[in-house]
Order: sequence, then C-alpha cells, then structure tokens
Amino acid sequence: LLQIRHLRKLFDSFVALDDVSLDVSRGEVVVVLGPSGSGKSTLCRCINRMEKPTSGSIRIDGVEVPQEGRALAQLRTDVGMVFQSFNLFRHLSVLDNVMLGPVRVRGLTTTDARREAMDLLDRVGIGSKADGMPAELSGGQQQRVAIARSLAMHPKIMLFDEPTSALDPEMVSGVLDVMVELAADGMTMLVVTHEMGFARKAADRVVFMDAGNIAEIATPDDFFDHPSTERARDFLSKIL
Ligand code: ATP
Ligand code: MG
Repeated sequence: LLQIRHLRKLFDSFVALDDVSLDVSRGEVVVVLGPSGSGKSTLCRCINRMEKPTSGSIRIDGVEVPQEGRALAQLRTDVGMVFQSFNLFRHLSVLDNVMLGPVRVRGLTTTDARREAMDLLDRVGIGSKADGMPAELSGGQQQRVAIARSLAMHPKIMLFDEPTSALDPEMVSGVLDVMVELAADGMTMLVVTHEMGFARKAADRVVFMDAGNIAEIATPDDFFDHPSTERARDFLSKIL
C-alpha cells in the first residue's frame, strides 16, 4: 500500500532523512522507534506532504504522492495523521469536529455525516461527549476525538506520531486501546511511539531509525529479544 524508495530530506545541509526505503502492506501495522532526532517525525511529514522530500519516491496504492492541488487534497484524505498535540478545532463541538471533513471534503449530507460521526465517537468511547466542547475533555479523550476525526475521512493508512506522549500516564491506555482495536480491524498503520507494550502487542514489524536511516527492521519479538545492531541495543537499554 505504501512504498517508500530512497527517501532523502535535507534541512539546508542537515540530513534529516538520508536514504529510507520501506514498504507497508495493506492491513499491516509498522511501529517506528528510534532516538530523538533520528527522523521519525520527518518521515511521517514527508508521507503526507507536510514536508517536501528532497529526493526519492513515496507511492500510495501505486500512485506517487502529489505535490499540490486537487491530487494533494485527495492524498490528505487517504492519509490520516494523528499528532502528539490533538489540534482539534476549539470553537467546534466534538461532533462538529468529526463531521466537518466528511461534509466539506467528502460531500456527505449533514445527516449522513452526523450518523457516521456518532458511530466513530462511540467506537472510540466518546459518544456521550459528542455535544461537548474539546476544552471540556481530558487529553486522552481529545486524542480519541482526533482519531475519530481522522477515521471519518476513510483514510487508506493512518500515521500516528507519538500520539500518547503528551498525555498524563493514566490517559495513555485508553488511546492505545483504540489503536489496538483499529489495528485488529485491519487498518494500515505507521506508528511512531515509545510505548513498547503497544509495539509488542500490535506491530507486525518494528522499524528502528537512527540518524536518518533505517538501522533495523524486524518482528517485535526479534527486535526486543535479539536486536541485531549496537545502536538498537543501546536504545533499548535506555528505554526499557
Ligand atoms: P523526536 O523523537 O524528538 O520527535 P524525531 O525522530 O521525530 O525526533 P525529527 O523531528 O524527524 O526527529 O527530526 C530529525 C532531525 O531533523 C532533527 O535533528 C531536527 O532538528 C531536524 N529538523 C526537523 N524539522 C526541521 C526543520 N523544519 N528545520 C530544520 N531542521 C529540522
Ligand atoms: Mg518526532
């Protein structure tokens, strides 16, 4: 589904991504790990074109990620992204946050969009808060709304960039539960996270990044039990 070839991204002369190639199949869950500054966020941002790659190719369903215009708008609906900060529209109710994209971009009627949004909010366990405002929710609840809002666009792939790192510890598991369920439902996911429990439980493969390159790709069991690079061993010794 996602095919990345020789992706390179420079910020001036600084090499954020050196030479990254990665395939993610339909329904696969790939967890991206790596030290701070290794290029994990830059990778996500290149996939949905928040950053322009310096060179290399990114294809989704065989189609090269477009530069601009209508095709880019389509890409943004195909690629859902959830960040550390939830970025909900503060002046809109929870329900309106989830309905906005489907009405504006997918052209759904308000009635259909509302029905679908309510289903999604129920699915992430926030149905009872639909009429509330984002500020009235906890961080974990807001993040689940952000996930529902992304899902409302019917993305082909979901990117998560440290979706739980800004949350109070007791809020983390609710968000991870939603992600585990999403994975079990067959969503294709690329997840940057430091939640090793999630990686063990939900990942089909773990990608370990170091200094703008993929240093290691393995199954979670192999990666955590027998990391093959010194950098990965060092990283795991600090984090586990
Ligand atoms: P973290 O775990 O801290 O989130 P990361 O792996 O996500 O780290 P990136 O955010 O992808 O790392 O950044 C990779 C490198 O690129 C870093 O050294 C960062 O300073 C640099 N970088 C990222 N964005 C920019 C930018 N807009 N301008 C200049 N340098 C940048
Ligand atoms: Mg990052």
